[in-house]
Amino acid sequence: MWEELQTHIEQLEKKAQKRALVNVESDGCFIRIDGQHAFNFSSNNYLGLANDERLIQASMEATRTYGVGATASRLVVGNHPLYEQAEDVLIRWKGYEAALIVNSGYTANVGILSSLAGRDAVIFSDKWNHASIVDGAILSRAEVKRYRHADIDHLETLLKKTDKHKRKLIVTDTIFSMDGDVAPLRELVSLKEAYGAILVVDEAHASGVYGKNGEGMAHECQVAQHVDVHMGTFSKALGSYGAYVAGKRVFIDYLINTMRPFIFTTALPPSVLGAIYAAIDVVQKEPARRYHLCALSDHFRTRLQQAGFHIGESTTHIVPLIVGDNERALAFSARLRERGIFAVAIRPPTVPEGTARIRFSLMATMTKQQIDWALEHICAVGKEMGLIA
Ligand SMILES: *Cc1c(COP(=O)(O)O)cnc(C)c1O
Repeated sequence: MWEELQTHIEQLEKKAQKRALVNVESDGCFIRIDGQHAFNFSSNNYLGLANDERLIQASMEATRTYGVGATASRLVVGNHPLYEQAEDVLIRWKGYEAALIVNSGYTANVGILSSLAGRDAVIFSDKWNHASIVDGAILSRAEVKRYRHADIDHLETLLKKTDKHKRKLIVTDTIFSMDGDVAPLRELVSLKEAYGAILVVDEAHASGVYGKNGEGMAHECQVAQHVDVHMGTFSKALGSYGAYVAGKRVFIDYLINTMRPFIFTTALPPSVLGAIYAAIDVVQKEPARRYHLCALSDHFRTRLQQAGFHIGESTTHIVPLIVGDNERALAFSARLRERGIFAVAIRPPTVPEGTARIRFSLMATMTKQQIDWALEHICAVGKEMGLIA
C-alpha cells in the first residue's frame, strides 16, 4: 500500500505538481521563507489586519476573560458571549436579518450546501468555484450541474432542462480565487428569480474589500438584498479566522438545527471571536485601506498588461500572470524569488491544464513604490523567459 502512495507522489513530481510545506514567518508585506526575506505577493491578508495592534489586543483580552478554548460545540456549552456580540455587529454591517459565525469558510460551504440541498435538489455550480463548494455539493448528495465559468447562457440552458418542482441552488464565488475576476451577479439574480432558485454567494475574497462599507461584492453590485445566502470569511481581508453565513432568520435557524459541520464541532476559541469583532469595526471605520488596495491593484494590472502579460479577466486585487506550462510557471516563481519576490506558481488541478500561472495578491499595506519596484523585476523575468518582448 505504501508503495502505491510513493508511486502517486512520484507521478506528481514528474508532472511538476508535487506540493510540499515550507516554513514561513510573515511581517507586514514581507515574509521570511527558508531564512530568506521576500516581498510577499501570496497572502490573503488583503487589508494587512493580521498584524493589526487592535485585533491583537482584542484577541488577548478575550483570552484573559474567557480562556483559550471554547470547551464544547456552540449548541452545548461553547457559545461564549463574544459570539452574540460579534454576530450583532455582523448583522448590522451586512444588513441581513440574521447571521451565524462558523469555524471556517471550508466548513461553511460544506455545511450550507449539505444542509440546504438533499438527494432531490439540484446544485448549479460555476466550474471555477472554490474546492469547498465542490466538496459541499458532493456531500449533499444532490445532483450537481456545473456550468461553464461565468456563462449565463449555459446556466440558463441547464436550468431550463431541470424539473420545475425540484429545489434549485445556484452557487458562485463572487471573486474567483485564482483569476481575480468577478461573477456576473446581476445576471445570476435575474436567472434565480426567473427559475425560482436559491442564490448562494461566497464572498471569501471580497468581504472587507468591496462594497461601500466593505460588505462585499454583492453590495458593491447592489444586489445584496436579492442574494438568499451570503457567505464569507474572516480569514482573508479580516485578518484572523472563521466564517459567517447571513440571510433570513428562518434560514439561520434551520442551519443551527441541521448544519452538521456547525453542530458537531467545537466552537471557535474566544481569542478568534475577539479578533473578528475588532476587525469588523476597523473595516467599517477605515475605508482608506480598501481604496488604496483597489488603486494599487488597478495600477499593477494596467502595467502588467501594457508590458504584454496575459492576466486573464482580473479586475481585482487578485492578479494571475498566466504562463501556461507547469515547469515554466515554477521557473518564473523561482526567478522572482531570486530577486526577493515571493509569488506562488499555481498549477493544475487547482487551475485548468495548460493555464499554470503566478498568482499575485496585493495588500493595502504595500506602497506604490514597492509595487513599481516589483513590476520592474516581474518584467525583467518575463523578458528573460521570453514571455514578453
Ligand atoms: C479561502 C476560501 C474558502 C475557505 O475559507 P477558509 O476560512 O480558509 O476555510 C472558501 N471559499 C473561497 C472562495 C475561498 O477563497
